[in-house]
Amino acid sequence: MKIGDILKQNSRGVSFEFFPPKTDKGMDKLISTSLMLQDYSPLYFSMTYGALGKNQDRTKKAVYGLLDKATAAVMPHLTCIASSRSKVADLLSEYKDRGVENLMALRGDLPAEGFEPAGECEDFKYAVDLVKFIKKHTNFCIGVAVYPETHIESSSVEEDCEYTKRKIDAGAEFAVTQMFFDNKYYYEFMNRASRQKINIPVLPGIFPLTDIRKLDNFLKTCRVSLPRRIKEDMEKLSEHPQDMEKAGLEFTIKQCQDLINNGVRKLHFFTFNRPDTIKKILDNLNW
Ligand code: FAD
Repeated sequence: MKIGDILKQNSRGVSFEFFPPKTDKGMDKLISTSLMLQDYSPLYFSMTYGALGKNQDRTKKAVYGLLDKATAAVMPHLTCIASSRSKVADLLSEYKDRGVENLMALRGDLPAEGFEPAGECEDFKYAVDLVKFIKKHTNFCIGVAVYPETHIESSSVEEDCEYTKRKIDAGAEFAVTQMFFDNKYYYEFMNRASRQKINIPVLPGIFPLTDIRKLDNFLKTCRVSLPRRIKEDMEKLSEHPQDMEKAGLEFTIKQCQDLINNGVRKLHFFTFNRPDTIKKILDNLNW
């Protein structure tokens, strides 16, 4: 079923994002993980795609495994940077044959080492190009990524808004946000979106805070800020991982509850393939 329709038909719900495991054993575990989360009647499951299209086969394998077992819709992510039109067309055709109906259309991160500015690398420059291509050749339902604190390469909020609007106008039916830890960024983003007449559902992407070590540097690479208070509270506990996780998850539960209290009825979870963590959050929310 198309996620656009699922989101219209359900006034509330949760969706879960996984990454493709490296091993067959991991694949089996992923299936049982997803089945555990099925108790929450998810709106859909999504599966990330390796940067620069690496490990594409693992994404496909995980998607097909989930499609066979899960009752929820399953959506692969697809990045287009450095990929060719023909490669993307082949993948779209294979996905269609396997019953995939939804795609998360992304540009992907630019390779730090750069890439050959020739040949197939130039077929797609931005996610909007992929959205247009998918729209032209298929009738998949398309999701896109949006950035409450703006994308790291955007030089202003206005620029970020402009390009976000363009990719949505090209045919995206819903969006999922980058993680954020201060809900004001989501509320401000939604206000900007409303002023721009962006009317598609925008699911807040929830990152369960469990471990602060290494997180700070990673967040800087994607322009996501972590409130000082929780950062300090968790850092104090870095020698006690269980206590640190407890403090982090309490923060995430409060974050989700605040969204719910402010009328948000659909949440997207970056699960990191850890259903236990997600259950701890969901079981403590008052809808
Ligand atoms: P775009 O929408 O193309 O935007 C990238 C930058 O280009 C922005 O700064 C934008 O403002 C700018 N821009 C857009 N159009 C133009 C234009 N015409 N002219 C000038 N500038 C322009 N990465 C993966 O590798 N695999 C995944 O599975 C994956 N899943 C993700 C899921 C979510 C929910 C999110 C939020 C991100 C995900 N990413 C994933 C990361 C994503 O690939 C990176 O954030 C990437 O840097 C940008 O992708 P995009 O699709 O948002 O790009």
